[in-house]
Amino acid sequence: MRCPTCAGRDDKVVDSRLADDGAAIRRRRACLACGRRFTTFERIEETPLMVVKRSGQREPFDRGKLVAGLRAATKSRAGVGERVEALAAELEDALRLEGPEVTSQAIGLAVLERLRVIDEVAYLRFASVYKGFTDAGDFEREAGLLTKATEPKRRDEPPG
Ligand SMILES: [Zn+2]
Repeated sequence: MRCPTCAGRDDKVVDSRLADDGAAIRRRRACLACGRRFTTFERIEETPLMVVKRSGQREPFDRGKLVAGLRAATKSRAGVGERVEALAAELEDALRLEGPEVTSQAIGLAVLERLRVIDEVAYLRFASVYKGFTDAGDFEREAGLLTKATEPKRRDEPPG
């Protein structure tokens, strides 16, 4: 593990214990070069994130597709294109928190929410591909509908 202080690659584990109710192992490490102490967490690799498409079909989440969609939307937009990889990683993290299954609509909405803050042109481009929208008003209405449609839909809660 690279030392955060001197970037040295050699360290020794000085303490190791369970964390997060046993879901992780926390290791205290000491850099052999500069002595800096830092902490690492080891976890089981995540279960695959599944995307439920409008048709009801499921497929594994593909970050490459997300990146391609973002690249198309941000093409030739100064200062935005280079953020695509980071944005995709951030979106994937957020989606995994909602997983192990997310709908393709939820992904589209998450992308739109972020693009809207970053770059309005990219936002409208993505919206137009996503739903054939021609102006922001179309999406405002759809976003309202999606939010209403998804919030109360918790099948695992008992009725009434
Ligand atoms: Zn060091």
